[in-house]
Amino acid sequence: MNAIIISIGTELTTGQCLDTNAHWLSERLTDLGLRILSHITVSDDVTQIAESFQRAMTEANIVITTGGLGPTPDDLSREALAIALKEPLEIDDLAFKQLESFFIRLQRPMPDSNLCQAKRPKNCEIIPNPRGTAPGIVHSSQSGHFFLLPGVPSEMKAMYEQSIEPLVRKLSDGARTIKSRLLVYGMSEARIGDTLGNLMEPGRNPSVGTSAADGVISIRIVARGKNDADAQILLKNDVSEVKTRLGKAVFGEDEDSLASVVGQMLLERGLTVATAESCTGGSVAKRLTDVPGSSGYFKEGFILYHNSTKTARLGVPDDLIERDGAVSESVARAMAEGCREVSGCDISISTTGIAGPGGGQPPDKPVGLVYVGLAREGTTDVRRLVLGDHLTREEVRDRSCKAVLNMLRLWLIESR
Ligand code: AMP
Ligand code: MG
Repeated sequence: MNAIIISIGTELTTGQCLDTNAHWLSERLTDLGLRILSHITVSDDVTQIAESFQRAMTEANIVITTGGLGPTPDDLSREALAIALKEPLEIDDLAFKQLESFFIRLQRPMPDSNLCQAKRPKNCEIIPNPRGTAPGIVHSSQSGHFFLLPGVPSEMKAMYEQSIEPLVRKLSDGARTIKSRLLVYGMSEARIGDTLGNLMEPGRNPSVGTSAADGVISIRIVARGKNDADAQILLKNDVSEVKTRLGKAVFGEDEDSLASVVGQMLLERGLTVATAESCTGGSVAKRLTDVPGSSGYFKEGFILYHNSTKTARLGVPDDLIERDGAVSESVARAMAEGCREVSGCDISISTTGIAGPGGGQPPDKPVGLVYVGLAREGTTDVRRLVLGDHLTREEVRDRSCKAVLNMLRLWLIESR
């Protein structure tokens, strides 16, 4: 079964109000196993609204619209439905009585403008509004159901839960949709697309899609099943197939972060870590200690912003800084090694780079050049990152943190 959601209101099309109704309804309908074909947003223009209604009726089994049911002249959904169905508007006796009693309860006279809210096209039914004056309207036919709900989110939700969801549940016959999100770092979206190939084919169930934000790629897997158990099996199979194909690049699921998965591994292995940060200004330590229980593995963090402190605190030789510069492979190495020695930790990590926007000296030392180091017993690795001067200062710092945490994660996996 499929659905279209139509949001009505000029406040939406002008960007003054964010369409939260479509977002909320989509989640609820998707959970019940429906496929959402589209979200449509229309301004308060009766012709546009009627046209969108007509089109949606022919395309989807279930159409849910929100907005345009108020008492003011820009509330045009009732009229538009009458045009789309080619039926006249008439007063609904029950809706009229409910409206009347609403105002009696408030001990106020009913304004004439509210009368229009008791109207519905012929051959439609009224849906009671438990939270306000605007009743909803439903038109049912062989091809499906068309629901008009109010725009005010609290009224829309109450009406959906009371009158629409029970019906949709019955129609969808126990069908369920469940979702999972896998998180990937260190592989481009294009390569992920190539690797997942057939899993991402349009129309496939489960559907597999990617989205990128701040250097992390999310793989969204959505499985529709006849019932919950059926959907669970489909989802589980795809989650494990995606993990197999992408291997170590998958670092977690749903709410995981690089810091939380690294923390979990450190805890399991009984290893301790300390940080020596320059360009990231303590962000790596913050991320590590954002995770509850991080005192089990995080010992201390140094923020060594000035060159003199790199020497004074961690013994980075000043002639090394003089010779290679603070942003260099050798200084990242010396920072990590000094930090490991001073802290007495099993592992230490270091960052030194040019976060920008100023201070770059291309081509040797451009903005976005960062060295990240990882020291452990007997070995120190340093990675040179050229993040690019198109990134903002905040982005350079963010990517540096992720790169060094991922370096630690990969080492923890490989050394297992
Ligand atoms: P209406 O039913 O069109 O009179 O809408 C009443 C109010 O509900 C609007 O002024 C908005 O503040 C809010 N509203 C309408 N549609 C939406 C929507 N799709 N998402 C969030 N809020 C909405
Ligand atoms: Mg409106």
